[in-house]
Amino acid sequence: MSRASATMDSVKVLLVEDDPSIAAVVRRGLGDAGFEVLHVETGAAALAADGYDFVLLDLGLPDTDGFDVCREIRTKSHVPVIIVTARGDELDRVVGLELGADDYVVKPFGMRELVARIRAVLRRGGGQDGVQPSGDIAVGTLLVNEKTREVTLDGQVMSLTPKEFDLLAYLATEPEVVHRRHDILERVWDTEWYGPTKTLDAHVAALRKKLGNQDWIEAVRGVGFRLRVPRT
Ligand code: CA
Repeated sequence: MSRASATMDSVKVLLVEDDPSIAAVVRRGLGDAGFEVLHVETGAAALAADGYDFVLLDLGLPDTDGFDVCREIRTKSHVPVIIVTARGDELDRVVGLELGADDYVVKPFGMRELVARIRAVLRRGGGQDGVQPSGDIAVGTLLVNEKTREVTLDGQVMSLTPKEFDLLAYLATEPEVVHRRHDILERVWDTEWYGPTKTLDAHVAALRKKLGNQDWIEAVRGVGFRLRVPRT
């Protein structure tokens, strides 16, 4: 699967919607927001589609139920899915989210709301990222558990010092977000910090080494750091 990129203009949305008037409005709105749109009208066409980063899935489709489409997509991919539906009752919500949908939008909805929801899901990293039922924070294959203070990467337990853990856990609570050096020092070192920030750099270097890929922690010059899933 292709991961959703941080730059919104390269995100390709698979729009599964059989109502032409709704599809036209959503296509235009997503296009205006900088998304690429691949539009299909049936569940079968949705399952045959490829090369998308995000799914907007209508539940009432002519050939199959959107829930079945969602379940099928989830068997092969963690691509983010937002279910779009006229059915707003609680049961459907629960079932939809258990099937692995990342969010739910009930018709009628505004484009502004829809775009905001899509961006929120993309920021969370979509798919399986975010806080899991186990209490793990998942960022790609990196799992951070603040209760047990255990970190695994690709299923392997990582050995971290207490401060390395605190730093990684702090960055993992908001992946993709750039955290200012001052904020990191204040939160992780638990003090106002006015001195040199070499300590932070040393810990970032140590973490990168243990993560096995520099790209896990990106330095944003003059600002700070962010945690993200490496693209390579
Ligand atoms: Ca429909």
